[in-house]
Amino acid sequence: MRVSKYLLSTQKEIPADAEVISHQLMLRAGMVRRNASGLYSWLPTGLKVLRKVEAIVREEMNKAGAIEISMPMVQPADLWNETGRWEKFGPELLRFQDRHNRDFVLGPTHEEVITDIVRKEVNSYKQLPLTLYQIQTKFRDEVRPRFGVMRSREFLMKDAYSFHLDQDSMDETYQSMFTAYTNILSRMDLSFRPVLADTGSIGGSLSHEFHVLANSGEDLIAYSTESDYAANIEKAQAPMPTEERQSPTAALTELDTPNAKTIAELVSEHNIAIEKTVKTIIVKGANEAEPLVALLIRGDHELNEVKAEKLEAVLAPLAFAEEAEIRTTIGAGPGSLGPVQLNMPIVIDHSVNILSDFAAGANKDDKHLIGINWERDLPQAQTADLRNIIEGEASPCGQGNIALLRGIEVGHIFQLGTHYSESMHANVLDENGKSKLLLMGCYGVGVSRIVAAAIEQNHDDRGIIWPAAIAPFTVGILPMNMHKSHRVKDMAEKLYQDLNELGIEVLFDDRKERPGVMFADMELLGIPHVIVIGDRNIDNGVFEYKNRRTGEKQDIPFEQILEFIQ
Ligand code: ATP
Ligand code: MG
Ligand code: MG
Ligand code: MG
Repeated sequence: MRVSKYLLSTQKEIPADAEVISHQLMLRAGMVRRNASGLYSWLPTGLKVLRKVEAIVREEMNKAGAIEISMPMVQPADLWNETGRWEKFGPELLRFQDRHNRDFVLGPTHEEVITDIVRKEVNSYKQLPLTLYQIQTKFRDEVRPRFGVMRSREFLMKDAYSFHLDQDSMDETYQSMFTAYTNILSRMDLSFRPVLADTGSIGGSLSHEFHVLANSGEDLIAYSTESDYAANIEKAQAPMPTEERQSPTAALTELDTPNAKTIAELVSEHNIAIEKTVKTIIVKGANEAEPLVALLIRGDHELNEVKAEKLEAVLAPLAFAEEAEIRTTIGAGPGSLGPVQLNMPIVIDHSVNILSDFAAGANKDDKHLIGINWERDLPQAQTADLRNIIEGEASPCGQGNIALLRGIEVGHIFQLGTHYSESMHANVLDENGKSKLLLMGCYGVGVSRIVAAAIEQNHDDRGIIWPAAIAPFTVGILPMNMHKSHRVKDMAEKLYQDLNELGIEVLFDDRKERPGVMFADMELLGIPHVIVIGDRNIDNGVFEYKNRRTGEKQDIPFEQILEFIQ
């Protein structure tokens, strides 16, 4: 690719609205552009990387015996009514009507559609096991789209679904998906960890998440110092590391902002009631007309103490909450406290993250919160099942102590049991002609999220450092003063042609730019190998080579360059 014929769109300045490094670099490298909240266009460089990740995922799925299909992004409400998820899914599900006033959703996931296909197409045990997958755009109306494509509303997911007659077969496919996920992330040289995940409200039996390890990750992983045990915090119920907790003094300083409101003010303005469950204080709206839930807070705080006090008094003890995630603001998004801009850190129990999104859906049209039985509806992780573990305490596996890491969830595999086949009547005939419910597994990979996660793990202060398998280009050719020197031009053109013939992807910077600008772009873009061509090297019969990751420079004789790059 010649830069003169490409859309490079790099920028020097750090975009003000991008919080995490991957988002900043994706904007600066001209990989994506935001069209609206949580909606992004992929520019050529971004798309090249996305397609590489996609290709690796596809290859590993095919290798694991999964069969590719394509399902519609728009799904009829009927199917979602069959499973009850039309009611249960909450506001992440974007619902709309067609011209005949029929209800539809933009698919956030495809269990309903795939089960509908399989119940029609598969009726004998002889057709099993069967694993189908697609790589397709999903839509989730996230409460807080953020970090660019890391948590967007539209994103690319690989979703696979497997169907089985018995548990042994289910286990076997689950294991092969586990292996496929391990292969996918290993091929991209990412440092990752599979962790036990909570099976939550679906009531499945086994689940693992795959986390790319990064300090910016939204998830906490608890792992044993002495065994392979690792679990998502929702599963392990481990707390935030001490140094990451908000200190009470910091919270109080923040609270001195003029926007700070007292709980009492919030209570009167929004008619909020505060409830206490076993270990969770829930601030919720009592008035149906108001947007509800503001905070879900974990900790043993007395209802009355909280209600009367100022917000400071609520937040200060929360700084010591066993589990906490600090959010910067509330006041934006559905279900938050309407126009109240608190402009302060708000502490939300990480382990009820899913719930808070769910609960945030409770507005006047959606009465989930009213009369909700929190004890029943809290995920299992919130109730009796899981132990409270703190860092340094014994691991639940019995070996070693618990340590914590931050991760980005890039994959999730799940044994669903007969949950969907039961509600959608997906049966097959077994060897004895008896009708049996299908066992089902589902397996997701956040293809677009992986692009961002890879950058979180691979960058320096000059830009991205792509792992070889997903680099947009393998080699950058950087000719010095090509527009003045025929020798340089000829050499660069020849090298460009040779590399292309070898099927190596090259970005040839044929612009009339200063070398400094060209260098900076190559480094920002993260191209693994850069070859500089100048009159001086030509005199010496060498190319000047620079490795992006190591920063190492080397002179390579002309005749050895192709071999060196390959
Ligand atoms: P999260 O906990 O981050 O919200 P999830 O558990 O809701 O993710 P799953 O339903 O498990 O997501 O979907 C499978 C995969 O899709 C996730 O592991 C993640 O990699 C990806 N994914 C989910 N939501 C988003 C999003 N909003 N933007 C980008 N990728 C996403
Ligand atoms: Mg989610
Ligand atoms: Mg998750
Ligand atoms: Mg998940």
